[in-house]
Amino acid sequence: MLQQTQVKTVLPRYTAWFEVFPDVQTLAATHIDDVFKQWEGLGYYRRARFIHESSQHIAQSFDGKFPHKFEDILSLKGIGQSTAGAISSFCFQTHTPVLDGNIKRVLSSWENKVLTDKELWNIAQGWIDKTDKPDLWNQAMMELGATLCGAKKRGCAACPMQQNCLSAFTEAPKKLSSIKVKHVFWQVHLFQHEKHGIWLEQRPKSGIWAGLWTPPIQELDAKPTQQPDYIHQLTHRKVHLYLKNQEEEPQGNGQWFKSWEGLAVPTGIHRLFEQKV
Ligand code: SF4
Repeated sequence: MLQQTQVKTVLPRYTAWFEVFPDVQTLAATHIDDVFKQWEGLGYYRRARFIHESSQHIAQSFDGKFPHKFEDILSLKGIGQSTAGAISSFCFQTHTPVLDGNIKRVLSSWENKVLTDKELWNIAQGWIDKTDKPDLWNQAMMELGATLCGAKKRGCAACPMQQNCLSAFTEAPKKLSSIKVKHVFWQVHLFQHEKHGIWLEQRPKSGIWAGLWTPPIQELDAKPTQQPDYIHQLTHRKVHLYLKNQEEEPQGNGQWFKSWEGLAVPTGIHRLFEQKV
């Protein structure tokens, strides 16, 4: 939940999640639409899909118990080498390094050069192999990268690793690139009927808002002249939404719903509806 979402947003949702899904079996037996519903507002829904798929994998392959072996943890959907390293070291004290963006920066500082991912993994492994407290080591590395050894500012005077660091007391390197944001323009076709309700389609299983319910959406080739009704910001994309009320009968794979409330509708469409529908 914390990946790309702030702690203060996650905390109440984390507690609520376990009230609805108290164990792996309950989650595994739940339909994905209801899992999405519980996830609503947290964004990046593929995380919910991954957790759901992982719960089914754990229920089927590991007798409903979270696996202890690093390779088995790595086999869970959405868990890469770094996350598997974190879980495995924190829970089972394995010598498996964590390598997030902050730790990469710390290790590069120690070596005072730009390193490839392969080199970073080798160096991280070399360090963690020297300790008999791999869980504490990983947590300390994450903390160092998040606090003292920042991307813009370094607190070398207080750093416990200054003796081992080739770039101690030098300036932090300038950031070379920033995230490029792509703008997309989407027409949202709203079919509303007094008797039938609202017409919604389920989005494809991949791409933006995968598996969620929205009115039919058409991507426009060019930016319309009028102002968008709502702009939804994602990490690499700005989605400009233009609402169009439709009079004729809808076509395609959608269905009528009495209301969109209670359905797994993406936050961007939620906001659009709140303002316009
Ligand atoms: S000594 Fe400075 S540059 Fe080196 S790891 Fe510590 S904070 Fe980062």
